[in-house]
Amino acid sequence: MEAQPPFRQPHILQNSVVVFSKNYLPLARINIKRAIVLLVTGQAESVNFGTTKQWEVRSPSIVLQVPEHIRLTVGNPERHWKVPPVNRREVLRRDNHTCQYCGSTKHLTLDHVIPRSKGGQHTWDNVVTACEKCNSTKRDRLPHEAGMVLKTKPKAPIHPAVAFAEQFWNSQRHPEGE
Ligand SMILES: [Zn+2]
Repeated sequence: MEAQPPFRQPHILQNSVVVFSKNYLPLARINIKRAIVLLVTGQAESVNFGTTKQWEVRSPSIVLQVPEHIRLTVGNPERHWKVPPVNRREVLRRDNHTCQYCGSTKHLTLDHVIPRSKGGQHTWDNVVTACEKCNSTKRDRLPHEAGMVLKTKPKAPIHPAVAFAEQFWNSQRHPEGE
């Protein structure tokens, strides 16, 4: 008879599980402990995509098979998300509190890429984080007129679950270490 390898619970509990919505949109990666709670309370069920790994989690009274993919049996809790307003707090958060021209993280202000005096709108695709220095260098000009380049093209934040889904499917296309 083969001896079972010692069971290392602490190691297993470091794994994470991908949660799918009821209609199979990958929503988020969560801690396995949270996944166990969702499974035992019936708020989620196992899914198996054929390649789905699973872990055996034992407590004194139960043995639970926890797959790396689970699906919520209840409605999608994120469905009420809407695009946040264009304000200092949200723009700084989107831009990771970094000046979009020079990368500075100090003395941050908001800059209208197309200046308001030239018809630029106060919208997600025209407002970026800029440090005071870059903002005063740019003045009332377009970035190229001031010889400045934006690090990223500004756009509205997307639904966190949609952002996660994109990331998830990309990682499935290019599995790590394979
Ligand atoms: Zn700057």
